[in-house]
Amino acid sequence: MTKNHEKKTTLSIAVPVYNEEENVRLLFEKIQAVCETIGDAYEVLFVDDGSQDKTFEVLSELCKQAPTLRVIRFEKNAGQTAAMAAGFEFAQGQRIISMDGDLQNDPGDIPKLLEKLDQGYDLVCGWRKTRQDKFWTRRVPSVVANWLIGKVTGVPIHDNGCSLKAYRASVIKQVPLYGEMHRFIPAMSTVAGARIAEIVVTHHPRRFGKSKYGLGRVWRVMLDIIAFKLILSVFRQSNNPAKRGKYHLQSSLKGVSPCIAGVNTSSGSRRAVQVAACLSLPFFVLGGILLGTVSLAAFSCIGLGASLLGLGAVTARVIGKAQQESVELGTLARFFISRCARRPFRCFGPVGSMLLVLGGILTIWMPNLGPVLMNSGILVCCCGLFGELIVFANAKRVKDYTVETFLNANN
Ligand code: UDP
Ligand code: MG
Repeated sequence: MTKNHEKKTTLSIAVPVYNEEENVRLLFEKIQAVCETIGDAYEVLFVDDGSQDKTFEVLSELCKQAPTLRVIRFEKNAGQTAAMAAGFEFAQGQRIISMDGDLQNDPGDIPKLLEKLDQGYDLVCGWRKTRQDKFWTRRVPSVVANWLIGKVTGVPIHDNGCSLKAYRASVIKQVPLYGEMHRFIPAMSTVAGARIAEIVVTHHPRRFGKSKYGLGRVWRVMLDIIAFKLILSVFRQSNNPAKRGKYHLQSSLKGVSPCIAGVNTSSGSRRAVQVAACLSLPFFVLGGILLGTVSLAAFSCIGLGASLLGLGAVTARVIGKAQQESVELGTLARFFISRCARRPFRCFGPVGSMLLVLGGILTIWMPNLGPVLMNSGILVCCCGLFGELIVFANAKRVKDYTVETFLNANN
């Protein structure tokens, strides 16, 4: 046992790993070397997200010799966000560092991050300024996504996707995470009033193992950005007693949220008409221009408006109930909660978008079918979106990971 470890742990390094057998030993040794120079009593918390390779075996071996290493193993793969959430939950230090387990982040940056944190911040984000990943499939989508996230959330960070970050434990432990929300930690932590800073960090190409994400991530992030906007406005509203329960025009008009905010008021019916009108009008006009057959466009847009309102009403009720910690939920809400945390349901975004594009193209040749497909596409996207919201509202109750083993749990 090292001298530093006899004191109460004050620094935790949380690392999610999924099939990283060749990386974990080397990474642990590097982290250990850096932490010994810092001088704090530290722990390195590896969260094995249900790896199918030898990751857990390698970590178990390491655990026998290293009391500073603690290892959580999930029963099955629950995703990087869940693994990070477990890291934050079980971390014992007042200062927490998160980083990837594939040696792409450099433990050598940890002292710099902590130094910045101690200047009075609650969250310090790493910025991979010279990112060592593929240009078209990684770096370009990432620049666009970061720009969009900055615009939508009002928290302009260069590199939301960089896992190398430092946190004040008291703040990050209050931030609810679900789905793939780890990419929105900076914006989400503003809900808990976090002061945020950013520093440039080193980034290495992946040497061993494979990346766990493909181009499919682009769809999910796009859908998450829209869902996140709604989540943020609902949370910020509910955190502000003056605005609680009231229709907040400014925040709701910015996104699709008129639907939710509209039905969530005492004067619900008047709002509902306004919301239906503002949602249906663009489709009506678009349908009229594209189709010339006003009746079909009118018919489909009324259907769409009504469905959106219905979903909006369900979402608003569930969010309201979740915030009151009430347990009783309706059938539809339970359906969303059980389905949306699972990956297959998350295909609603891509499927809906594809229907939309297909409908748009088909409109040229089949003016009757095209708009119907387009509207169905929008509806499918919206179902995915509201599903995400409902799951999020229940994130504190729905734990989407199960810990199977915890090595060195009591160290
Ligand atoms: N990861 C995880 N669960 C998953 C997918 C990824 O714990 O379902 C871990 C992975 O082992 C790595 C980190 O999350 O430590 C980032 O993943 P990856 O390197 O594949 O992402 P990229 O760097 O390509 O964005
Ligand atoms: Mg990586």
